[in-house]
Formats: sequence, structure tokens, C-alpha cells
Amino acid sequence: TGQKVWTTGATYADFGILLARTDWDVPKHAGISMLVLPMRQPGVEVRPLNQMTGVAHFNEVFMDGARIPADWVVGEEGDGWRMAVALLAHERSSIGSGGGRQPIPTDRIIDLARSAGRTADPLVRQDLARLVTGTRIIQWLNLRQGIHPSIPKLWRSAQGRLASQVTSGLAFPGGAAWLGDPMGTTEPGDFTSADGSHWSYGICDSRAHSLGGGTDEVQKNTLGERVLGLPREPAPDRGLPFSQIPKNA
Ligand SMILES: Cc1cc2nc3c(=O)[nH]c(=O)nc-3n(C[C@H](O)[C@H](O)[C@H](O)COP(=O)(O)OP(=O)(O)OC[C@H]3O[C@@H](n4cnc5c(N)ncnc54)[C@H](O)[C@@H]3O)c2cc1C
Repeated sequence: TGQKVWTTGATYADFGILLARTDWDVPKHAGISMLVLPMRQPGVEVRPLNQMTGVAHFNEVFMDGARIPADWVVGEEGDGWRMAVALLAHERSSIGSGGGRQPIPTDRIIDLARSAGRTADPLVRQDLARLVTGTRIIQWLNLRQGIHPSIPKLWRSAQGRLASQVTSGLAFPGGAAWLGDPMGTTEPGDFTSADGSHWSYGICDSRAHSLGGGTDEVQKNTLGERVLGLPREPAPDRGLPFSQIPKNA
């Protein structure tokens, strides 16, 4: 029994990955188990959340007496945090390579600049050059073996915001990015519609890039601590059993 917001694709999913605290008497990163949750059952209710893109990309999931077969534990009981870290690394790699989100359509943004008659504008040219070089850098980063997944994830997040800023200036010079029912005719997950709704979607969606898969700040902390070997953030509750950590009343 419990509730989870931000669950991407829950309306379509037959199974979910669920992290549940199964031991309250060990420190907080221990005592979590990863379970596979059958989504199509009476104890699971999925409520889509409409975002400013016009699409319900993620959902709230309410579990009320939901059932999971006893042996549907991924890895060992109590070892779920380690599993989650591995899963997050895959998610971050996927986002960083553009797999988790639409690839940035650099060529189409250049076409947009052409059709708007702005290719002679030095500031627009500068932005387009930053877009093209950044996209190339992300491609090269993703070709490197063993690169920490937070690096391409951070690049992709920044590049998405830049693309959004450039595109909104070109496609909506008057300042409006939202076209009413922008994705009304587009299937969820199809980010490639050729009309103006695509720009509207991408501009609004870019705000999510620095959150989904872990925020930019958390990626920077991870890189600082795990890659650069900087001191860890202070955590007064480190080592305390979860049951003894002060919580909201
Ligand atoms: C489009 C989208 C899809 C998503 N899909 C899923 C999904 O399918 N499944 C899922 O589980 N989650 C999903 N998420 C949730 C996402 O992973 C979280 O929103 C994200 O990790 C941030 O966590 P939070 O919302 O709890 O923010 P918080 O952790 O409360 O952060 C709030 C703010 O504080 C900052 N902050 C927090 N801790 C630190 C720190 N230690 N140092 C510095 N700054 C800090 C953050 O950077 C942020 O700005 C999705 C989010 C989005 C936007």
C-alpha cells in the first residue's frame, strides 16, 4: 500500500519496478527491496497527470493492498538500493544518448532558421553553432566506453534547454510557445510531428530534462563525489537506523 508520483508510462505498463522499504532497523540505503509489481490488478490505480506539453507523460500510481508474488524480488531482499543505482545508471545513459527523449533535431532547427530568414543574424548563427557542436560533443561522449552516465546526462539536459531557447526565438518570436492543443493529434511518445506542434512540445518539455532521471544538481554532486573524489555531502543521519531518522509528523 502506498503512492508514487512521476511514473512515466504507467498507463501502458503491464509491470512496474517498485522500491519498498522492507527493513526499518538498518541505515536508510539498506533495507530497501526492489520488486516487480504487476500493474493490471485491482489494488493498483493509475492516474495520468497532464503536463504543460499537453501530454500526460507521467502518472500518479496509487497502491491499495496491491499483491506481488513473494519471489518477485530483483536481486536479494534488502539490496534494492544497489539495484536502483544500476537501473539509474542505465536510465541516465539512455537519456544522455537521446534514447530516453527525442534526439535534438539540429537539422530541423537550422531549417527553421532558414525559413524564418534569420540565418544571416550573427546571434542566431552563434546559437546554431553551439547547438551543432554541443550535439556532436554528446555523440562523441556517448562513443566513449566507461564514461560516467551523469556526464552525457548533464550535457543532454543543457543542450535541450539551449535548443528550446533557440527554437522559441525562431518559431514563436512573439513569445507564445503553446498552441492550445499542441499534441492533440499526436500519439504519446511520438515527438517528431512535422508541424509547429513539435516545437511547442519540445520547448515545454525541455524544462523536464534537468529533472527526469535525477536532477542536474544531483548529477553534479555524484560527479563531484564519485568521479572527482571530493568530500561527501554532510549527512547527519548517515549510519542511523531508518526508524530513528526524524521524519515529517
Ligand atoms: C518527465 C519526468 C519523468 C519522470 N519519470 C519518472 C519515473 O518514471 N519514475 C520515477 O521514479 N521518477 C520519475 N521522475 C522523477 C524524477 O526522477 C525526480 O523528479 C527527480 O529525481 C527529482 O526528485 P524530486 O522530484 O524528489 O526532487 P527533490 O529531490 O526534492 O529536489 C528538489 C530540488 O532540490 C535539489 N536538490 C535535492 N537534493 C539536493 C542535493 N543533495 N544537493 C543539491 N541540490 C539538491 C534538486 O536538484 C531540485 O532542484 C520523472 C521526472 C520527470 C520530470
